[in-house]
Amino acid sequence: MTKPRTINTEAIVLRAAELGEADRLLTLLTPAHGKLHATARGVRKTTSKLGGHLDLLTRSALTLSYGNQGTGLATVTGAEALDSFMSLKADLRALSKALYLGELADTFHPLEAPNPPAYTSFLEALQALESPADHDLVLRSFELRLLDLCGFLPQLARCVQCEEPVLPGGHFLSPAAGGVLCPACKPSYGDALPISVDALKVVRYLAANSLSSSLLVNVRLPLHRELAALMSSLLRYTLERELRSTAFLRAIAQQWPKAEDVPSRTA
Ligand SMILES: [Zn+2]
Repeated sequence: MTKPRTINTEAIVLRAAELGEADRLLTLLTPAHGKLHATARGVRKTTSKLGGHLDLLTRSALTLSYGNQGTGLATVTGAEALDSFMSLKADLRALSKALYLGELADTFHPLEAPNPPAYTSFLEALQALESPADHDLVLRSFELRLLDLCGFLPQLARCVQCEEPVLPGGHFLSPAAGGVLCPACKPSYGDALPISVDALKVVRYLAANSLSSSLLVNVRLPLHRELAALMSSLLRYTLERELRSTAFLRAIAQQWPKAEDVPSRTA
């Protein structure tokens, strides 16, 4: 029999679903252990010591304990909030953006696959949503960094089909092709969207730079709209492809042996 094991880690709560009378099932993002599921027993009782430390989008120092088999679902046995992001949660627009980032992080990360830079990227994005920064730029930067850190960043420097360098003007972005296309290669891909020179420059810059550097870029509304539409197409294509993959389904099946154990999302 494998010994019981305990993990001490900081974590951000990505999802919190009610479980039974007073418990909560949490989806956590951690720096060194990746995404984990854990139960917080009795957390919804007013007397619980865990209460307030395990709310959605709260960063906490946690102790997670596994059962006698050393496997399966962890139980939260200790929690102390490090950052509750209260000012973010008091601003409905910022909160909606944070919830979107949390859902993206949840969807992109497979279970128990450590990705410390991706954790840092998520934490920095939440912190930036509490600042007066351009919040739409925070979203675009996070989306591109997440694509990069998870291995899905499209090719942006050269035409993905003919490898010719991308010159200003008349270019397209194709999620199915996995990058930018020159005008000559565009007809091969029905999903190719026109991408302006400015949009391509911003996308390249955000993909290659930290959030703090990215937030120095000044993006006006029409360009923001173009960037949001391009990223939406790219993410939708990437996620649908990923969700169909057997690796993802296998990971879900391992964590959720019975379909009826999967709770509904509360947030
Ligand atoms: Zn080409």
